[in-house]
Amino acid sequence: MADFTQAREQMVVRQIAARGIADRHLLAAMREVPRHEFVPADMAAMAYEDSPLPIEAGQTISQPYIVALMIDAAEVAPGDKVLEIGAGSGYAAAVMGRIADRVVAIERHGELAEIAASRMRRLGYDNVEIVQGDGSKGWSAEAPYEAIVAAASGSHVPEALLRQLSIGGTLVMPVGEPSAVQNLVKVTRTAEDDFEQEDLGPVRFVPLIGEHGWRDTSRESGRPRPRSIEERINQAAEILPDFEDPDFAAAFDRFGDARVVLLGEASHGTSEFYRARALVTERLVRHHGFNIVAVEADWPDAAFVDRYIRHREAREEEGASAEDAPFQRFPTWMWRNTDVDAFIRRLRSCNEGRYAEEMVGFYGLDLYNLGGSIRAVIDYLDDVDPDAAALARERYGCLQPWSRNPALYGQLAISEGYARCEDGVVEMLRELQRKRLEYAALDGEEWLDAAANARLVKNAEGYYRAMYRGAAESWNLRDTHMFETLSQLLEAKGPGAKAVVWAHNSHIGNAAYTEMGQVREELNIGQLVKERFGEQARLVGFGTHSGTVAAATDWDRPMEIKAVRPALPGSYERLSHDSGVPRFLLDLRGPGELREALMEPRLERFIGVIYRPETERWSHYAEAILPMQFDAWVWFDETEAVTPLPVEQRPGEDETYPFGL
Ligand code: SAM
Repeated sequence: MADFTQAREQMVVRQIAARGIADRHLLAAMREVPRHEFVPADMAAMAYEDSPLPIEAGQTISQPYIVALMIDAAEVAPGDKVLEIGAGSGYAAAVMGRIADRVVAIERHGELAEIAASRMRRLGYDNVEIVQGDGSKGWSAEAPYEAIVAAASGSHVPEALLRQLSIGGTLVMPVGEPSAVQNLVKVTRTAEDDFEQEDLGPVRFVPLIGEHGWRDTSRESGRPRPRSIEERINQAAEILPDFEDPDFAAAFDRFGDARVVLLGEASHGTSEFYRARALVTERLVRHHGFNIVAVEADWPDAAFVDRYIRHREAREEEGASAEDAPFQRFPTWMWRNTDVDAFIRRLRSCNEGRYAEEMVGFYGLDLYNLGGSIRAVIDYLDDVDPDAAALARERYGCLQPWSRNPALYGQLAISEGYARCEDGVVEMLRELQRKRLEYAALDGEEWLDAAANARLVKNAEGYYRAMYRGAAESWNLRDTHMFETLSQLLEAKGPGAKAVVWAHNSHIGNAAYTEMGQVREELNIGQLVKERFGEQARLVGFGTHSGTVAAATDWDRPMEIKAVRPALPGSYERLSHDSGVPRFLLDLRGPGELREALMEPRLERFIGVIYRPETERWSHYAEAILPMQFDAWVWFDETEAVTPLPVEQRPGEDETYPFGL
């Protein structure tokens, strides 16, 4: 027989105590009760996982944390007499029996009641009595009880149960529709006829079936009604708590073992996507050794922020001119917003007290700031190799006239039939790479930055020329550049390096399983990362139904706060909305009915920096196969636009660095 002592200890520490449950009697009881004895034999190996599990009679044993949460909320204490409704496996009753004097636990299924009772006998838990019956009526024979815990959800708290509470006693019970998210309520009887009710948050339980609960419909038709996809999403969705709750980020610990975690967004202007990614990223950095945060921003702009995050001095040139301040180009709100500002400060605090080589860095994967990259390479060479700097000025001089509007260069290069600046920018990168040893000996970080900028100039030169040959080609160049930059970062930081990537769903969801790859021959960073790292890469998509978004009507036009239209029928977003769960994490990995059902291609919404609600179907929806595109799907039913920060930099305010606010 396997020894589960260690697994049980880990369960108590990681799932229960880490989530804030501190009652020593409860923790001791959970350390003692062998949960693996309360599940069917073939499930024993999973008994200490952080999830509910199926048991006999089509029922479930609750997630360990939920059991603890309810017992804690019901304030079960030594000396108490406790009533449980919905004994199921008997596990929760057994835990309460280790704390209280006596527990009566009612179960409506005869088969379950019998198995649970025999477990109590086998374990010698003789202060726990399992009875078969309808718990919605309570168990008046032994009333009153100091605590009543119901593990099945009713439409309301039955009066019969309230009357069986002692004065000062507490009842905890989920209330709400079956197959929907319910509310966990706590009722305290403060006097003979006075009760105080408190809401403890969203949960999901099987229905309380009985006289004061729901009707039993399972035998009403010959066979059970097949569940709709929306119902299945409702069942599989893991409810995400508020952003303030540490459990929010903890829900993503499952990706902590990966080498690369890519976090998407369904628009470039939704606050919830930024805030969620910030919390998850901080968690991965603090607890799982991630040391690279690479985002869909330009390299030189991100480098500016990186210095702040890693407590490095700002370069002298930086901040000196308004041109050098980060994120000054359209679409500024994508990075200059209050959520990013807060995130940057949190990342900086992650680095406090860390050695330089252990610090998390912040990098840009995109290639739009051609002018900034050219300046960065020249500035670098001015410091380390003035002769090479002179050569760089000459070679990059070819692009200089177009650095503010490089698209014009692309147009010209194609109409004149040759790429006049290509050779120079390629040569510049080669030279920097050739002199790696010499330059990196002076400062490895600075060399990495310069080489990344030189690669950016080379790829951007090609990108702008490709723009005039076709959207797919330039898209592919851009995403290949992002992938190359990420690969270089991972390589430069050594074998233990781990990266979190932030980019739009269209970049991080595997393009091979969307219209992009299947119709337009476009690839993306998500696909390239998946091909390279396989299971070591996790792709997380984000979605929303309605609310507001920050976006422009056209490129280079001002930002507006626009209303997001409710999701179209038939889309993945509409299914998510109709599941009735307002914010959730859906793990799409592994086999299962729901995954199968979601494999049929459906519409998905993509809002970028431009949003045109009038032509939404054609401008913003494309087909995808969600479970192949992403490993997980994060849902916020109602979302809000980001709050932009002003673009002007106020010079000389150090404490407000890097955004000058
Ligand atoms: N506390 C259990 C454990 O630790 O395994 C989990 C209970 S399970 C989530 C809910 C149980 O409530 C099911 O076994 C179900 O049969 C039972 N149930 C539903 N309605 C009931 C009722 N009216 N009376 C008693 N049990 C009921």
